[in-house]
Amino acid sequence: MSSDSDKDKCEVCSDQMATFIPSGGFDGIHQNCPRCGEFKISGTACSLIRQPHGKDKRAKLSGWVRAQNRNGTVPLITSETLQKVSESPLPSIVERAYGILIEAEAGMKGLGESFNILEPRFLAASYSSNKQDLHFLLSMLKEQRLAEGKTLAGGCEILPGGYMRLEELKRKSSSSTKGFVAMSFQVDLNDVYSNGFQLALVNSGYEPTRMDKVEHINRIDDEIINQINTSKFVVADFTGHRSGVYFEAGYAMGIGLPIFWTCRKDEMSDLHFDIRQFNCIDWDTTEDLAQRLQSRIESILGRGPR
Ligand SMILES: [Zn+2]
Repeated sequence: MSSDSDKDKCEVCSDQMATFIPSGGFDGIHQNCPRCGEFKISGTACSLIRQPHGKDKRAKLSGWVRAQNRNGTVPLITSETLQKVSESPLPSIVERAYGILIEAEAGMKGLGESFNILEPRFLAASYSSNKQDLHFLLSMLKEQRLAEGKTLAGGCEILPGGYMRLEELKRKSSSSTKGFVAMSFQVDLNDVYSNGFQLALVNSGYEPTRMDKVEHINRIDDEIINQINTSKFVVADFTGHRSGVYFEAGYAMGIGLPIFWTCRKDEMSDLHFDIRQFNCIDWDTTEDLAQRLQSRIESILGRGPR
């Protein structure tokens, strides 16, 4: 049972009162917030976040916590997490709108039950920092006949098309633990694959896949499309500037998969301008790559099940 006495301002979003959860021996704060969900935050991260911290940054962290909860983890926010999450790009508008659908379904007790978009959890689920964003995303869902608002007080309903889209999303995300690595097949990068990409994926709990057999064909065939379609995410490395990598990353983006962008430091300046806007890991050594890619994957997707 909770009372007002064991509630405090949420350290993540700072606009809700969160329940304080006592956790013996942990040198930090453990809270459960109606907007963000449950998390632990270290003392150092707490003092960092208490300094002026933009609404957008808080919205991103809040969305990240909720996504972690959905994956079944109560995340520990350290100063490193704060930095990583604030550096990571915001999910696409389409993903943010789907976030509303997923959250609505998660809170349902019966089939076809309505939900209230004004509940604070929807702000986090859609990475929104204000109600205007939320209403914009809801109008997108309405336009697509996936969900619609029913009452002025925030009552909404998922439409049949929305349930079908949720099925597709679930099939895509639950079944796959595979990370597709798109990279150049230069012989001198073989070690980078084994001790860099492969290691990062395995250590973060995912199954690495690479299509080296298509090396000599040098075209995108059905097998590659099939591999990407059945992957959870794509790692695109631009070292060597193989044109196929640009295509594979573009294709993966089109179907809404998360992409991890990487390129060896000495080739960063040759990177195509379209790619430069993304937060690219400019790796130096194979060890550097393995370590930074692993922590980026874990901070964005959470640890994989493997
Ligand atoms: Zn919160």
